[in-house]
Amino acid sequence: MKEIVLIKLGEIALKGLNRFSFEDALKKNIKSALYGAGYFKVKIAQSTIFVIPQGEVDMDEVCDRISRVFGIVSFSRACVCEKDMNDIYAKAPEYLEDALRFAKTFKVEAKRSDKKFPLKSPEISREVGALLLEKFPHLKVDVHNPQVKVTVEIRDFGAYIRAGAEKGAGGIPVGTGGNAAILISGGIDSPVAAYMLAKRGVKLTAIHFASPPYTSERAEDKVKRLLMKVSRYAGPIEMITVPFTKIQETIKDRCDEELFTIIMRRMMMKISCIIAKKYDCTALITGESLGQVASQTITAIACTDDASDMPVFRPLIGMDKEEIVQISRKIDTFETSIEPYEDCCTVFTPKHPRTKPVLKFVRYAEEDARLDELIEDAVENVKAVTVR
Ligand code: ATP
Ligand code: MG
Repeated sequence: MKEIVLIKLGEIALKGLNRFSFEDALKKNIKSALYGAGYFKVKIAQSTIFVIPQGEVDMDEVCDRISRVFGIVSFSRACVCEKDMNDIYAKAPEYLEDALRFAKTFKVEAKRSDKKFPLKSPEISREVGALLLEKFPHLKVDVHNPQVKVTVEIRDFGAYIRAGAEKGAGGIPVGTGGNAAILISGGIDSPVAAYMLAKRGVKLTAIHFASPPYTSERAEDKVKRLLMKVSRYAGPIEMITVPFTKIQETIKDRCDEELFTIIMRRMMMKISCIIAKKYDCTALITGESLGQVASQTITAIACTDDASDMPVFRPLIGMDKEEIVQISRKIDTFETSIEPYEDCCTVFTPKHPRTKPVLKFVRYAEEDARLDELIEDAVENVKAVTVR
């Protein structure tokens, strides 16, 4: 029996004239998500996307991948039939056996978009329902609250039988919401922040600051593995690693210890803005959450913001750690995030960081330390890899 996946589109249906570019992006993202899982034809008709396998594929794997593509409200596997009641009668019992064998109640709903089909929707429902009751005599019909809802769709190019539908990832298709650069550490928060903006259609570039030998290659590899998890939702991500050792050592040599953290974060912002522009990004994203640590008070964040000349999105700003952890478990980054590798932020942590830095003085300190002279060198020596 030939099986396909039928996908219902999400918010994109609301986007009026943008609709076609949204649909194209979604189609492209579905193809990209299925890369390596077989060959597929992906087409749109009557506000449904059809994913049609060309040859043998693992449908569980296919559905698992589709479940993480943004812009999808729901999707379901469906059996392809000819537009002929006899073919539907022949295939329905066998195809639905797994779904119906242990169910107690069901109902059949027919959707006939091809009005030339001889039977009307209520007739199709009735006929298929009667056939299923005969084949599975333990079942009862429950039109209000069925355990299994069987749908028979009669469309332009074929008829399809399916049982139920799974919830899609929601959101809007990645690539339709502009480009932004996520500042990614190996922690719990930044991968979640990345996921949240990707869900709103943003295409991500990732920037990571590494300070070898204080930070190890394994710490960098951990970030790469986190991005691989995020890319299951966000699509392929370019990861830019910035050599940060010289700048951190200079901050340590030339600045007041209390200001280490805030100045370091400002340098991250300045460098990220330059790199972000090179990669066509118009905003930065961080995993900051208000009050979580000393550098995340309102005053400190204002002081960090001052170093950026593009908008900085902080999708976790009002969330509790518990809520953030919940999402990180859902997107399967949590276990990787808690692996114990050092981040450059923890290398020279002052004992008593300023929680209320005064911008004017921070700027003076930064100028005195002539840190801006080091930016160009860092930007020129970045490493880039595509993570997927
Ligand atoms: P996370 O869990 O994301 O590491 P955090 O709560 O540990 O966040 P900080 O270490 O203060 O908080 O970092 C705040 C934000 O700064 C991070 O969410 C991330 O966006 C960015 N950041 C921190 N370290 C790095 C790094 N090494 N490279 C790039 N960005 C970083
Ligand atoms: Mg951190």
